[in-house]
Amino acid sequence: MKITYSIIAPIYNEIDNLSELHRRVTEVMDSSGEPWELILVDDGSTDGSTEKIRELAEADSRIRPVIFARNFGHQPAITAGWDYARGDAVVIIDADLQDPPEVILELAKKWKEGYEVVYAVRAEREGETWFKKFTAAAFYRLIYSITDVKIPVDTGDFRLMDRKVVNVLKQMRERHRFPRGMSAWVGFRQIGVEYKRAARVAGVTKYPFNKMVKLALNAITSFSYFPLQVATFFGFVSAGVAILAIPIVIYMRILGSGAFFGQATTLIAVLFLGGVQLISLGILGEYIGRLYDEAKARPLYIVSEAPEEQ
Ligand code: UDP
Ligand code: MG
Repeated sequence: MKITYSIIAPIYNEIDNLSELHRRVTEVMDSSGEPWELILVDDGSTDGSTEKIRELAEADSRIRPVIFARNFGHQPAITAGWDYARGDAVVIIDADLQDPPEVILELAKKWKEGYEVVYAVRAEREGETWFKKFTAAAFYRLIYSITDVKIPVDTGDFRLMDRKVVNVLKQMRERHRFPRGMSAWVGFRQIGVEYKRAARVAGVTKYPFNKMVKLALNAITSFSYFPLQVATFFGFVSAGVAILAIPIVIYMRILGSGAFFGQATTLIAVLFLGGVQLISLGILGEYIGRLYDEAKARPLYIVSEAPEEQ
């Protein structure tokens, strides 16, 4: 059967959201009058979500479960969704209903107008701490200003993409992934639709601070050399200061000044340079580690159960 819409929801311990997700998606998608499927990607849940997904799939053949062998993370789960989706339009949605399924119809409207990527822009966010809102806002703006791709600000993974776009994304098998950057990178006709991001229906965020930092690092290293350029910049600044300082100190010595005598000056200079060098090494290490991961070319995720047809 030809499917128009594939809705992808990555799931990591979302047991209390699953029935409601199914109910809301069904209501909205049925009203579109076109065939759809809901791909539930279980990312190694340990709270019984896996069994619940199987149960839902048993009762509704439009649900296609993809069960991971362990927790691989949100981005690999989205990737699996792309791989298994069969629809002409593919929508990524949060399982916690922070992205209201009703908005899918608005995204679809733009798609029918001819846009190939319709991303949902968070005009407002409900039920999140000021810390989350602040770090998220800072993150989007940092990424926008330093990466080589213009990744729209205040935009998460909630978006609708045409089959053409998904086919391209499926070929991009990079390991440390930032799906919203990837979907901006491919080009095509893109447009944003504003929406109000709701609070979680149940459960807690699966993005603690350390995961957000990791995501930010992946975004930056996947789409720019900015950190490496910062290291080069500091190298030039330190070298410049040294070159300027040499004649000044010689001149002062000739005049009999003792301004730069003593251990403290030396120590500060050594510590400063040592610090700059170690940080630069660390930045290099981040890129080399990522190269190493790419070279290993392991699968992005491992499924223990998946629909036969891919
Ligand atoms: N998620 C996942 N694997 C993970 C972490 C999160 O599949 O390792 C899913 C999670 O179940 C949810 C979506 O990714 O459907 C977004 O996560 P969350 O709602 O916790 O992030 P937030 O909205 O707080 O940024
Ligand atoms: Mg969420």
